[in-house]
Amino acid sequence: MTDPLHEDGATAITAVAADGLYRATVPRGEGRRLYLFSRLARSYRLFDGLPSVTGGSAHFRQHPLTGEWISYSGVRQGRTFLPQTAECPLCAMTSGELKTDIPVDDYEVAIFTNRFAALTEEASLPPDMMLGTRPGTGICEVVSYSADHQASLSTIEPDRVALLLDALAIRCTELMANADIAYVMPFENRGREIGVTLDHPHGQIYALPHIPDRIKKAADAFRTDDPLAGLSQRLPEQLVLAKNKSGIAFVPPWARYPFEIWIVPHQQVADLAALGAEARADMAALVSIAAGKLDAAFDAPMPYTFAWQMAPRGYADEFHLHAVFQPLKRAADKMKYLASVEQFTGFFLVDLLPEAAADILNGQDGQRG
Ligand SMILES: [Zn+2]
Repeated sequence: MTDPLHEDGATAITAVAADGLYRATVPRGEGRRLYLFSRLARSYRLFDGLPSVTGGSAHFRQHPLTGEWISYSGVRQGRTFLPQTAECPLCAMTSGELKTDIPVDDYEVAIFTNRFAALTEEASLPPDMMLGTRPGTGICEVVSYSADHQASLSTIEPDRVALLLDALAIRCTELMANADIAYVMPFENRGREIGVTLDHPHGQIYALPHIPDRIKKAADAFRTDDPLAGLSQRLPEQLVLAKNKSGIAFVPPWARYPFEIWIVPHQQVADLAALGAEARADMAALVSIAAGKLDAAFDAPMPYTFAWQMAPRGYADEFHLHAVFQPLKRAADKMKYLASVEQFTGFFLVDLLPEAAADILNGQDGQRG
């Protein structure tokens, strides 16, 4: 709901109650939307933000040997690359002059349609080629964790992380309600080492029209048994980083990355929405602890990839929600690179034993680095 213009061109927008929090929905043109989430009722001053980017002809092509789908989208080559802090598109707007993607005066958690999306809801016809093609149908959203440009998952208050998980639960449920979508993954790429183009603390959501092979294989594992059941009884204590009444954070004995961390709810649930608000807050506390331990390991921000794994379409009854951090450093000054063996075969070689990584993360090791 918008009110008449203010003197500086801003309008007012008011959040409405939704699922235990408040949400304001702002149409942004060309089918794009911005959602602003807050714990309490509030209003925002809304400016004109950055305009839509069109073109790119997003489409998929099929690999002739493996059958996997590969996404092509020319529009992404031109995306914003490491802008100055003053030109950050994820910061709030203080006046109508410097436009951003979140054109309000302040916010808590914001989710919006990616202007440089690899996948789009209304994809154009794919080219006719010598191999299989299909429209690049799907949805890409950006998730800003905070209006504070300097924040990170490890420094944001656990209450705010809980709001973030509540917001993700709502959006992921809405995205899965779209019959064209088969798999939704909220994730974060953290650090310039992994190719992050914006320093502002943020994640993304990809909603895909198909279930990628690796995800399907992992989901199929739950069909016969739940490999993540009863972990708090089965895991060696050495690998446990933290636990509470709803879940456990640990270094998995099967870690493929040095300092890999998994966060798993005790209860078998398909996704963040099925957890419920209280358990989500407990999971948020574990995420905060895990992110803090990763940054503490070498006293520096740890570059990582992080994702929530939720049930793909057709797996809701047996899938067990989990979150995974895949850190990219194996020592204070050494990166873990995926080289020939990992890239060609998917067969991982790990130098650091998970037990040693857990000791370092738990501060039980005198020889860091
Ligand atoms: Zn920023």
